[in-house]
Amino acid sequence: MMTSHHPEEPEATVPVPHLSQGEQQAETTAELSAITRLYELSTRLVLSSGLEALLEEVLHAVIELQGADFGNVQLYDPVSKRLTIVAQQGFKQTFLDCFRSVSVHERSACGMALARRERVIVFDTETDPAYKTYRHMAVLSGYRSVQSTPLFTRAGDILGMLSIHFRLPHSPSAHELRLTDLYAKQAAEMIERHRMEEELKRTNEALQKARADADVRLQVFQLILDRLSNGVFLVQGPHLRLLLANQAATTLWGAAWPQGQPEEEFLHQHGIQLLTPNGQPLPPEDLTGRRAMTTGETVLHRQLVICQSDGTRLPVLVDAIPFENLSLLSRPLSALPPTERVVLLVYQDVSTLKAAETLKDQFISLATHELRTPVTIIAGYADRLLGRSARGGEYGLNEWQREKVQEMKQASWQLTSLTEDLLDVTRIQAGEFKLELRSVDLVALTERVVRRIQATTDRHQLAFHTTLSQLWATVDAIRIEQVFSNLLSNAIKYSPDGGPIEVILEEHAETHEARFRVRDQGMGIPHAQQVHLFERFVRGENVRASGIRGTGLGLYLCRELIERHGGQIAFESEEDVGSTFFFSLPCIRAVQ
Ligand code: ADP
Repeated sequence: MMTSHHPEEPEATVPVPHLSQGEQQAETTAELSAITRLYELSTRLVLSSGLEALLEEVLHAVIELQGADFGNVQLYDPVSKRLTIVAQQGFKQTFLDCFRSVSVHERSACGMALARRERVIVFDTETDPAYKTYRHMAVLSGYRSVQSTPLFTRAGDILGMLSIHFRLPHSPSAHELRLTDLYAKQAAEMIERHRMEEELKRTNEALQKARADADVRLQVFQLILDRLSNGVFLVQGPHLRLLLANQAATTLWGAAWPQGQPEEEFLHQHGIQLLTPNGQPLPPEDLTGRRAMTTGETVLHRQLVICQSDGTRLPVLVDAIPFENLSLLSRPLSALPPTERVVLLVYQDVSTLKAAETLKDQFISLATHELRTPVTIIAGYADRLLGRSARGGEYGLNEWQREKVQEMKQASWQLTSLTEDLLDVTRIQAGEFKLELRSVDLVALTERVVRRIQATTDRHQLAFHTTLSQLWATVDAIRIEQVFSNLLSNAIKYSPDGGPIEVILEEHAETHEARFRVRDQGMGIPHAQQVHLFERFVRGENVRASGIRGTGLGLYLCRELIERHGGQIAFESEEDVGSTFFFSLPCIRAVQ
């Protein structure tokens, strides 16, 4: 009869005999020895003996406990749904060869136990009708009774099966079954623990391999970085802690920046200063890395100067590129949270470029200085010739001669203005530019310039609009006149068909600013050139195509002059419609 047992409730059909005192004593002794054995097994479990050896011992103990003749422990693979023998006692080799790994069959004792998730007891294989299919197996293997106890994980999943076999029909006592269950639990514990350990081992191995891979990749990365001539480093988080740097970076700073140290701390510790191109110390909140770190935006080609502790100054161009997710890279580099933003900083040493630029500026400055005197002489003589000719007499010039001398005078004035612009640019570049500030009435100044420039053209109508009678500001009057001259002569030059040109002045009381607008209805500026218009030598494609001459220096100077006064300059323009240039200057007070 095939019966199944729930571990807690002994099978009713298995008779529970009344025990004599001797039998009770034997049971207690058996229980004691089982507990001792279980204790020993758990100690061995802690010491991590091989799983198979441990399972064999459990099996041995159960066989001994129930007086069985042989048995086995199988492990269950839920994917292939197969049971594989891992420990056995007493089976013949031929049996093992055939049944080492079997797919679970409903009709076998273990298949039944698996399906029902509970122990199955076949009291006599010869008479149990449910065991009919397997009877020949029992005969072949030499057993008449079999008991299969499923092994469960703590979560209740099947781990395997503990089966014992008897040569004769056998009916276990409740006590034997209880102890068998204890052994089964122990076996399940062993298997589960072993699986967990194996899993842990595999994870650890995978982790170690991943680490080794990452380290190799990092080494290659570092090797490549060290070959670069630019200083390259990665910083992470709001404190700009160093993740890695190349050799060129160390040369650039004149000191080695240890991994993990915040940038500010490193600079401070080594007495390194970062300066703006004008020589002003860079405030800590304006560190290029910090800018990219806080805004998440790329900073490109920022000009700075590194001032090393020994006073060596290195002009550099700095790029800062933020990365949101470099956790893979940062793992082997630091223990910092991988979620923090990483910024790649590239410092390009531009000393040689700067030296070449200085040389070029010196050359331009020298050449323009040398040009100045002859140009003044030509202009002076042309003036004198025209003056004398106007008085008549023996120095009188005929019509053709007067016209040519007039052209000479015009050309030499153009040359003078070009040399003056070039000299201003070289002074600005060399940081030798100074403003002569004094209190000036901007209303009077504007009226004066507008009048002067109007005198140079008949085809344009210049108008100055303001509701203010005076507006005082501390400015360099000559330089502000220069700005006006540039803007107004551009408005004239780039409105070749003539037309109105307006200058508007307003006071913005809230910000204490004088705000100017210079508006024309000329050729306008193509969109493609608008972004770079205030840079040196930049000119509109339309004006080049029209053959209107110019240097592209005027607006650069205007911006430098206005910004040095603490103001701002901008423009709006549309091709073939016109342009409006705006600029502001801080003012002192307004009287209406
Ligand atoms: P330049 O006039 O000598 O070329 P600027 O620096 O003064 O140099 O001006 C740069 C360019 O800006 C000019 O070449 C022209 O293309 C454009 N520009 C400036 N002002 C105007 C204007 N009022 N209208 C149209 N284009 C202008």
